[in-house]
Amino acid sequence: MDYPSILKEIEAEINLNQTRGKVASYIPELARVNPQKYGLHLACMNGDHFSLGHSDEKFSIQSISKVLSLSLAISRLGSRIWSRLDVEPSGNPFNSLIQLEYEDGIPRNPLINSGAIVIADILVSALDHPKKDLLDFVRKLGGSEDIHFNEEVAQSEKEHGFRNYALANMLKSYDNLHNDVEEVLDFYFHQCSIEMSCKELAQTFLLFANEGAIHNTKDRVLTRLQTKRINSLMQTCGFYDEAGEFSFLVGLPGKSGVGGGIVAVHPGEYSVAVWSPRLNKKGNSVLGMKTLELLTTKTGRSIF
Ligand code: GLN
Repeated sequence: MDYPSILKEIEAEINLNQTRGKVASYIPELARVNPQKYGLHLACMNGDHFSLGHSDEKFSIQSISKVLSLSLAISRLGSRIWSRLDVEPSGNPFNSLIQLEYEDGIPRNPLINSGAIVIADILVSALDHPKKDLLDFVRKLGGSEDIHFNEEVAQSEKEHGFRNYALANMLKSYDNLHNDVEEVLDFYFHQCSIEMSCKELAQTFLLFANEGAIHNTKDRVLTRLQTKRINSLMQTCGFYDEAGEFSFLVGLPGKSGVGGGIVAVHPGEYSVAVWSPRLNKKGNSVLGMKTLELLTTKTGRSIF
């Protein structure tokens, strides 16, 4: 596959100046980002790497972290976690409250906020030093010690995260949150505030292209079965009420975040991360989706 030519074509086709969409502002600290940023990193299983634009610049990974916290929870507790949440697409916005009440406090899946808050609760119970252990896990997958929380972003979300407080309290009312709301949300806001570059994210997500083993090592983090399940969840739930659209356009499992990042995985082939902060109404990066649609269309390859 001639990735360098394909990436050149993509770079020529996307137009930063005509891109619609808005930078996330409901977490005020995120609104400070330059909307013109654009980066891509493609990490191939055969060891090749390709990149475009601001691929080495760190940004807030936000909901992409939900895949990493889920992976840590599954690696520690296995399928026991599924007694607390479901694996169905929600068809609702990522921070929706309504469905959670209808469904008696059992979140639809771990990639919407309510489900990720339950996973945060599970990790707060299971880990000795929850925030440090999560960061160590992400650093191990990414092969870099230079991965950190952004305290300003975590604090900004804590001050404005009214819907997440509502979700956590609703979970608590159904007995599906075992620790204090404050403690669980402190962990959740920190996981969302992790900053990584496209390069670090692509490297980290190679795990899901590599059947659950850290690339180029014999270090297995997830079993094949667990990896299949996490990729399946990304495919069906990674983009909330736009999961169908992403699957239709791109045809790969993936996960977005309101920091403007998207990661997608082609099992056995590559992992790719894109960053462009302008979001559509569903909270997904406009150019990120466009870029990945172009990538799978021009290569003529997806998982389908
Ligand atoms: N921290 C954000 C929130 O909880 C993450 C949302 C997202 O990236 N979709 O609202």
